Amino acid sequence: MACRDNPGMTTSTTPTPDAGFGMLALSPAMLENLQALGYATMTPIQAASLPLALLGRDLIAQAATGSGKTAAFGLALLANLNPRRFAVQALVLCPTRELADQVATEIRRLARAADNVKVVTLCGGVPLRGQTASLEHGAHIVVGTPGRVMDHLERGTLDIGALNTLVLDEADRMLDMGFFDDIATVARQCPKERQTLLFSATYPEGIARLAQQFMRSPRTITVQSQHAPGRIRQRWYEVRETERLHAVAQALAHFRPASTLSFCNTKARCRDLGDVLRGQGFSALALYGELEQRERDQVLVRFANRSCSVLVATDVAARGLDIAQLEMVVNVDVAPDAEVHVHRIGRTGRVGQADVQGLAINFASLDEMGAVGRIEQLQKAQTHWSPLGELTPASSEPLAPPMATLQIAGGRKEKIRAGDVLGALTGEAGFTREQVGRINVNDFSTYVAVDRRIAAEAARRLSAGRIKGRTVKVRLLELDD
Ligand code: ADP
Ligand code: MG
Repeated sequence: MACRDNPGMTTSTTPTPDAGFGMLALSPAMLENLQALGYATMTPIQAASLPLALLGRDLIAQAATGSGKTAAFGLALLANLNPRRFAVQALVLCPTRELADQVATEIRRLARAADNVKVVTLCGGVPLRGQTASLEHGAHIVVGTPGRVMDHLERGTLDIGALNTLVLDEADRMLDMGFFDDIATVARQCPKERQTLLFSATYPEGIARLAQQFMRSPRTITVQSQHAPGRIRQRWYEVRETERLHAVAQALAHFRPASTLSFCNTKARCRDLGDVLRGQGFSALALYGELEQRERDQVLVRFANRSCSVLVATDVAARGLDIAQLEMVVNVDVAPDAEVHVHRIGRTGRVGQADVQGLAINFASLDEMGAVGRIEQLQKAQTHWSPLGELTPASSEPLAPPMATLQIAGGRKEKIRAGDVLGALTGEAGFTREQVGRINVNDFSTYVAVDRRIAAEAARRLSAGRIKGRTVKVRLLELDD
């Protein structure tokens, strides 16, 4: 924990380690809910920000991805909320639809303790009409992207006259994406008497400008991006350029992790690595800027539901994604910025899984030794190099993901719910609960993960049966889909 001395801003105190939520002014129902969610102790950013946020203070909070920032502002905005008042009382601005969806999901989980809190997401790429209808039905909390929120404000379909909490989540990323003016437009329309919470993984210059214009003597809280020692095991290998992509395949065959996130510095490298890995029989998907939203959604669903072993991504594409259970992170290229390296490896061995040690594999060529040196300085630890030759295959079996994904044509618009799909698989089709994994219902399609060994049969039986009284088209997603 460290506090930044910004002129005109006060600093905060160091939190007690392993602080429980019980020390906060939260309702007994909320404390019980947190326990049910498995949130036993506060993360450092929660412990540092929540006591102040619950007092109504404006905050600038900076902490790495995966540090629990959503609950930090989620609990604060819920504390300000009166569910019996039918008006939008909190607005969370996020850079992308995916992040908005994740934030909305987490807020809904946190809000289970109160009655009927309505959370509506407002993001681009979806017709305005449905969103307007959701707003007319009454919303307490709006989570959205700046552009689309502005659209609704201009049309008069969103009224924020009763707003009491404004949250800027992933503020650095929103600034990267050129949203400064949009954020400013929205913030100017919020009531003056409100609490503003700004969350960010890094602290670029634009943040101070936002704070100056739209926040009231905010406190700045920084949780340094150092991981608990021993939580992440790092291994470094020196490679020649010609060996680099093959070395990633060697590491996968050697460690055989169920889920791996591989970071590349460029989109071209992502594409190449995806091709090389698929060529060698790994189930690998690539995530980079140019994919259409629908393709991105599908890639993420398949990785998160464990039907794809390796996700290859750029930093920007992977930013903020909340994917639990990552056994391994690979730095295919050395991150040019040491802070970025620390964020990348923090994806393995995550919050709330203190007992699980993460594994970070790093490949570096001679040209990258300068960047390696900066990482050593930041981590205050010397790099130990291992010989590439130790990465021998641990088995002659190919590394296959445990699950496979079935895509069902039809989603929320057809009123399909996860329970309907689970019911169809475990009822009529005769599978067990254990053979079914995550179910994601999107607007127009539904994805269900099933045990790989029964995937083809499950697709056949679902197509032959009915969901919500209707027959549905079902397709088993293959790697080249
Ligand atoms: P960030 O926004 O900082 O990237 P998230 O808010 O997405 O991080 O949280 C990362 C993960 O940690 C989520 O899966 C969340 O449910 C979990 N989490 C948050 N707070 C706690 C806690 N106090 N105890 C255990 N898990 C937590
Ligand atoms: Mg976040």
